[in-house]
Amino acid sequence: MEKILKYQELDTKLQQLEKKIESSSEKNVMNEMISYVKDAQNKSLKLEQKAKKMMEEYVALKKEYDKNVLTIKELTSKNSSELTTAQMDEIFNQINLVSSNLYMIERNLNIQLVNIKTILKEFETTKKGVINARTKHKESKEKYEALVNTVNPQIEAVKNEMLSLEKSIDSKLLTKYKSLKHDKVSLPIFVPVTAGNCGGCRMALPMGKLDKIKAEGYIICDQCGRVIFLK
Ligand SMILES: [Zn+2]
Repeated sequence: MEKILKYQELDTKLQQLEKKIESSSEKNVMNEMISYVKDAQNKSLKLEQKAKKMMEEYVALKKEYDKNVLTIKELTSKNSSELTTAQMDEIFNQINLVSSNLYMIERNLNIQLVNIKTILKEFETTKKGVINARTKHKESKEKYEALVNTVNPQIEAVKNEMLSLEKSIDSKLLTKYKSLKHDKVSLPIFVPVTAGNCGGCRMALPMGKLDKIKAEGYIICDQCGRVIFLK
């Protein structure tokens, strides 16, 4: 029993070392930066589509503007001496209409220009964010790799220690340990009787069970599946 407990102790240490790498802030930052860049790429794509649409709208407005300017030119080029008063009034009305059209188009063109400028600014901000994220990613990757290089030898050492210990552990206990671990029973798998309860899940153990532990060395907890032994 002592050997398997030592083995479990090493296994716990191994788990902590692996967790040190897996849940390291460096790894978190790395992943955050990767998803940041991905989001930024999606955003850039959307901005690009938006900008394209705006440019098309801008070009269409400009065309309409030029067309209206041409109409005004035509209307004003007519020789007034050849026109009746009614025709003159009609031309004035048309000029007024086209002028207000031009005014509206000009307004929309300006709005569109502001929109396009805003998009360009957003582009710029996104680009800066990506550059920043790439730098951060690189930094945290270097730190992460340094951490891995420090912790991995420790992991290897613990694994080797466990491996050499395995030979001296009662094979029945070791098989039990491994199969429970395989079934995702969380560490510690071997727990002592604690104040008459299972040391893992705290379930109360009736006298019969305690007697069985005394007789056989250990029992399996009905509730949590751990191996309960007597200290
Ligand atoms: Zn239990």
